[in-house]
Amino acid sequence: MSFKRISRRKFISGAAGIGMSLPILGKASISKTQGGKLNRPLIITSKTNPATREGVTTAAWEILQAGGSPLDAAEKGTNVSELDPRDTSVGYGGDPNEEGFHQLDASVMSGPDNNNAGAVSALENIKTPCSVARLVMERTDHLMLTGKGALKFAKMHGFKEEDLLTEAARKHWVDWKETLSERDYYHPPHKKFQPEGGGTFNVLVLDANGDIAGVTSTIGHHFKIVGRVGDSPIIGAGLYVDNAIGAAGATGHGAESIKVCASFLAVDKMREGMSPQDACRYVCQRVSDRHNGKPMFGLKMVALNKNGEYGSCSLRGKIEAETGKLVGSGFGVRDAKGFRMETGLALLPPMTKEERAQIPWR
Ligand code: ASP
Repeated sequence: MSFKRISRRKFISGAAGIGMSLPILGKASISKTQGGKLNRPLIITSKTNPATREGVTTAAWEILQAGGSPLDAAEKGTNVSELDPRDTSVGYGGDPNEEGFHQLDASVMSGPDNNNAGAVSALENIKTPCSVARLVMERTDHLMLTGKGALKFAKMHGFKEEDLLTEAARKHWVDWKETLSERDYYHPPHKKFQPEGGGTFNVLVLDANGDIAGVTSTIGHHFKIVGRVGDSPIIGAGLYVDNAIGAAGATGHGAESIKVCASFLAVDKMREGMSPQDACRYVCQRVSDRHNGKPMFGLKMVALNKNGEYGSCSLRGKIEAETGKLVGSGFGVRDAKGFRMETGLALLPPMTKEERAQIPWR
């Protein structure tokens, strides 16, 4: 495996960007770690699915240890989950759109490549959309390819078209279809339909030199309308990296993350000196304010900074059974101490049953 891929655009934009970026970088300040120690390398992921959450970070860690770039690590780590059908939260093995096929979104950003970025949206039949997004960044002068064009581009680069619908996901889709309405020709399913959690995850990587990269990959919303694109491939919404500051990623209700440029906002708040944790909380607060403190959806932010501090905040949390406390969602952390799941903050309590009954299924 070669870790030395340097893009044509990196060279051009790197040279052109030096003068312009200096004044902005001059203002940058990031919060200090306790005792001034740098916690590098560091990988965090919003992924909670037990099938792959540790595998994602372990693969990314091993790539860093072997001398790979943070983007190599974020991409290969993400691939572990994209390729594993046991992980029913994303890509192959995840739920399809309303017509029973997958349209995947993904984005990548690479700090040491002058914060360059690539994305794909509504990509069909390819198991590793984040790798195609990386090639969009490295092999074109565009930022995002979508739909048929994204598929053509993937095939041009040797990706194989494959069926992404597993038997389990097909059955889940049929259950959903049969449960949708009482006024159609489908009989209801035998067992009650159980919606599952979200379909996105972010992988943020800080290497030993302080270089940063990130990836976001998703099926989008379960059973979404054909053609729908969420926040995951939108740079600044589902993912943002600034090599001088840190990185952030969003999961949850993508339309709301786009409206506040959630990941960009988190990184910008870190630029102003907020810790990653506070920056994640700030974004959730902004989203909540847009909805008069009663957002009827979920959103979860994860972020890390250049020192190796990290944090997460969920807009809507859950009440922990043992303590009765309001807590956010879990997120995976891999650093020199090994892998662990940590619990993020939560801004607001979970939605009540009555509130849930008012919203479309998600
Ligand atoms: N943010 C994703 C989207 O809107 C969905 C998710 O995170 O569950 O496509």
